[in-house]
Amino acid sequence: MANDDKFKKVISHAKEYGYVFQSSEIYDGLSAVYDYAQNGAELKKNIRDYWWKAMVQMHDNIVGIDAAIFMHPTTWKASGHVDAFNDPLIDNKDSKKRYRADVLVEDFREKILQKINKDVAKAKKRFGDAFNESEFRSTNGNVLRRQKQMDEITVELTRVQEESDLEGFKQLILDLGIVCPVSGSKNWTDVKQFNLMFGTKLGASAESAMDLYLRPETAQGIFVNFLNVQKTGRMKIPFGIAQTGKAFRNEIVARQFIFRMREFEQMEMQFFIKPGTQKEWFDYWKETRLKWHKSLGLGEENYRFHDHEKLAHYADAATDIEFNFPFGFKELEGIHSRTDFDLKQHEEFSGKKLQYFDHEEKANYTPYVLETSIGLDRMFLAVFSNSLVEEELENNTTRTVLKLPAVLAPTKAAVFPLVKKDGLPDVAKQIVEDLKWDFNVFYDEKDAVGKRYRRQDANGTPFCITVDHDTLEDNTVTIRHRDTMEQKRVKIEDLKDIIKAEVDVKHWLMRMK
Ligand code: ATP
Repeated sequence: MANDDKFKKVISHAKEYGYVFQSSEIYDGLSAVYDYAQNGAELKKNIRDYWWKAMVQMHDNIVGIDAAIFMHPTTWKASGHVDAFNDPLIDNKDSKKRYRADVLVEDFREKILQKINKDVAKAKKRFGDAFNESEFRSTNGNVLRRQKQMDEITVELTRVQEESDLEGFKQLILDLGIVCPVSGSKNWTDVKQFNLMFGTKLGASAESAMDLYLRPETAQGIFVNFLNVQKTGRMKIPFGIAQTGKAFRNEIVARQFIFRMREFEQMEMQFFIKPGTQKEWFDYWKETRLKWHKSLGLGEENYRFHDHEKLAHYADAATDIEFNFPFGFKELEGIHSRTDFDLKQHEEFSGKKLQYFDHEEKANYTPYVLETSIGLDRMFLAVFSNSLVEEELENNTTRTVLKLPAVLAPTKAAVFPLVKKDGLPDVAKQIVEDLKWDFNVFYDEKDAVGKRYRRQDANGTPFCITVDHDTLEDNTVTIRHRDTMEQKRVKIEDLKDIIKAEVDVKHWLMRMK
């Protein structure tokens, strides 16, 4: 399936099976805002829990908080968001479409990379076992020319961003001959800076109202509570504070379903460390977070690190974990070494000391911070899009199956009576009653069993349990596995353990070891 078609299929499947709806659809929707439906809310909750368990429950030195979305407006002055949380935007005069200037250049560079990869793949095919990839990459004329062009783009992109050289930014786009994907023209406006924070007001009357922002990241709620948590939790460095919650950004271009939204959810952890140890912790969290991703079994080849050339004003090292979405490799999670920038800024703007007394060192210092920050919605899209497959079956038919990691699936098992009579529904309903203490289970008696299986496959349910006439004799049922379609006869009393073995968080998180 072509990538575009695959992405369209993902979006329509998410709607058809009750995972994601456009917000306010009856009013024709609200751009880049989405609602999670009955199954989507469960999947999202399970991803959040999977993250929380790995980060908070499994780490003695990490605790979680839930700070408010509204914060004192000075927070955003101190953090740098009021002055520097901008994206460079550019409009195409013919299509009237708006773009992020940096994304236009990055996409152009990515296309060159794809051409290199194509050349390599072709050569690999031609030379077979004798192919030496690293030699090819370092000697082939075409590859070298393309690599040089990519490097030059990177250098210039970094320069215009670092120097906020907006004229230079436009010139780069013109020099590369980048065209608008909609109109095909190079008729561009100048590049402008655009602040991404949403403003709102607190207070009853216009005169006394205070200007507030909806938080554009959850991290600042952690920084301003650093000392409160450290003291009340008697935390010793190194320690972390984790949080999940909504964040808001007035994104310039938000066209990729739940990948880039104006209201979204983040799962962030700030790890407070001794100054000078940041390199070691940066490497630790890079590795640990990648292991977390890999534990879900979405395919190791679908992840890559992208180290930042351009560092944010607060960072001394940064990397993205990129995932192979249906539209290519894009950022899923950021890992940032934030130095003592945030705590120092909040000290300066609040006039309050935010320091830690190290009993071993017998000294006060402002801790350094290592941050891991992942978008819950992006993680949802990664899991959902990767799990949706069309399978050819032996009898020349196909089935659509949503192979969600069982630990994340919204419904763990569906229970069917083979027929709607002879007391079979009563037995099936009793099984549902017993299992629902431990898992989300679903009862279905409509249509032929084959059709019910297909519905649950497309819904991502890992197990189907069928009650038939033999059940009445021997208390056994058929349990069918979503991915293998294998069917087994098992005792009703063993069902709970069989399901638990596959959906239990421990079973999945142990893979991180
Ligand atoms: P991008 O470069 O894609 O705009 P970012 O570098 O601005 O992302 P961060 O500020 O590092 O993102 O935010 C951390 C994480 O939050 C990202 O890795 C991403 O998963 C998520 N995220 C950021 N912006 C959005 C958004 N508009 N919609 C959904 N998720 C988002």
